[in-house]
Amino acid sequence: MLPTVESYPTRFEADWRDYRRRARLAWITILGGLPLCYFFQATGTPAVIWFIVYVGAVVWREGWGCPQCGNNFFCNPAFRNSFTHKCVNCSLRKWEGSSFDKESWWEKFM
Ligand SMILES: [Zn+2]
Repeated sequence: MLPTVESYPTRFEADWRDYRRRARLAWITILGGLPLCYFFQATGTPAVIWFIVYVGAVVWREGWGCPQCGNNFFCNPAFRNSFTHKCVNCSLRKWEGSSFDKESWWEKFM
């Protein structure tokens, strides 16, 4: 019998930790770019570098594979949702199989 989420609650811990690292980097680059461009009047090369880092971080986050089914967590051939709370392929809920606080506002936000 295969282990279920209930029988082994932290089996995806490392995968979710990887996802959290990717999501945090994406949010840091998104939120970090606003003061860079607004307060420091960054234009030209700094703005272009920030934009490249931002796109790379978002692509890295969006390319994360579901720990249960191995497919992309956010898209399948017919559908894409960057803010989904469950895998669009196998319906694994976000943070399922981890010890992360699933009720914290930050974890829900990511
Ligand atoms: Zn899945």
